[in-house]
Amino acid sequence: MRSKLKLLNIHTHRPNQANAIFNQETATQQTKYCYSLGLHPWYLDTNWESLLQEMKTKSDDPNLFAIGECGFDLLKGPKEAIQIAAFEAQLHWAKELGIPIIMHQVKGLHVLQQSLMHFKDPPPIVWHGFMGKSSSFQSLMNFPIYFSFGAAICKNHKQTIASLEALPLERIFFETDDSELTIEQVFSKASLILRLPVEKLARQVIENWNHISKRKIHE
Ligand SMILES: [Zn+2]
Repeated sequence: MRSKLKLLNIHTHRPNQANAIFNQETATQQTKYCYSLGLHPWYLDTNWESLLQEMKTKSDDPNLFAIGECGFDLLKGPKEAIQIAAFEAQLHWAKELGIPIIMHQVKGLHVLQQSLMHFKDPPPIVWHGFMGKSSSFQSLMNFPIYFSFGAAICKNHKQTIASLEALPLERIFFETDDSELTIEQVFSKASLILRLPVEKLARQVIENWNHISKRKIHE
């Protein structure tokens, strides 16, 4: 018998959902399934290194699936130097564990590029909630960067839809983030946009995940 189709939700703030990576914000939160853990740029302060140390106690937990969300927010976060240092420390942690980064990215494309150059061999990075133009991902295609889509495509955001259409399928993921959407709705919308069956997208996304992570998802 064929098991129910797995629609991987790469980033959600709703806990206890099967086939979803729950974005955990502290080392002590709990979810039944897999999760990501990291320092969000909005909440970075001078204390970030000790918080990161505390998070690292979870390193061997097989349900720790990704580091994040972390990254850059030059509109809302603290000064650039702190954001860069915290992001690079988390790149190292992800690299050590062989799992990807879930990246938050607002107005920090130039700093991301600098970090990537500087890091040389970065771990895979999933840019979550991607809404950029195709020109912003073109400049990143030489790096192991992936793009996750959700609410914006469901709201028919034109630029985001154009980016989804232009990206190779090997680079895409889907998510619900903090929206009220279900992951089924996101996959259905993507299936309409890309004119591909949901089953094909579901398999593709799991394959993409297993390609970038040592902590695998079984179909
Ligand atoms: Zn989020």
